Amino acid sequence: MEQARKQVLKDNFLKLIEEIQEACIDCHRSPEEVQLIAVSKKHLAEDIKFLAQLGQKSFGENYVQEALAKQKELSKLSLDWHFIGALQTNKAKFVVGNFSLIHSIDRLKLAQALNKKALDKKIVQDVLVQVNIGKEPQKAGVLPEDLEALVENILKLPSICLKGFMTLPPYTQDRNKMRNYFSMLRKWKEKMEQAFGKQFPHLSMGMTLDFKEAIYEGATLIRVGTRIFGPRP
Ligand SMILES: *Cc1c(COP(=O)(O)O)cnc(C)c1O
Repeated sequence: MEQARKQVLKDNFLKLIEEIQEACIDCHRSPEEVQLIAVSKKHLAEDIKFLAQLGQKSFGENYVQEALAKQKELSKLSLDWHFIGALQTNKAKFVVGNFSLIHSIDRLKLAQALNKKALDKKIVQDVLVQVNIGKEPQKAGVLPEDLEALVENILKLPSICLKGFMTLPPYTQDRNKMRNYFSMLRKWKEKMEQAFGKQFPHLSMGMTLDFKEAIYEGATLIRVGTRIFGPRP
């Protein structure tokens, strides 16, 4: 790996860590409450390896085959893998047990397929429900009005464990609007906790352009790609 590439990754990463810490200080949160997931989709395994040397352990991937290939290549490192992409039901069998958290459950059929595979493997798979907070027709995620029914059904599945919620809000450059979308997800989380008398610890929200706003609104997992790795090839 070229020295110049290493320098870019290192500079980007250290600056990002600093900005995450600043955002936490701004809103009186402890930096330990916010976990950075480095979104490495379409970037090379050697980039991941270098970041791991800098101390980054959690990585997010969107494509099943690509992710499994990287896991295999980097199997000697003890990394924490997150699946954050759209997931077809017939691919469920490839993700269960291979990711510490699957962020993108948006329908019961998918949850059932994951549950079945987890049962076969005798494990419990942690998941998040993805919410289409802006109700955008082209975007994945359950609509807010359908969230409670989906959560109710997921809670009945013994081999998947619901840990919280994820969103990818509508694109905007307006910082107030960004915060507003993230605040909506936080309120849905609180509503679900009330409805089911249970804690859902995680809010997965915030990317390269809006991670600060997400932290201000309570994100526990931020998913940042471009800001670390540069533009995707
Ligand atoms: C690609 C992707 C990210 C990272 O986006 P950046 O803008 O590159 O930080 C985060 N979350 C999801 C679901 C993604 O698909």
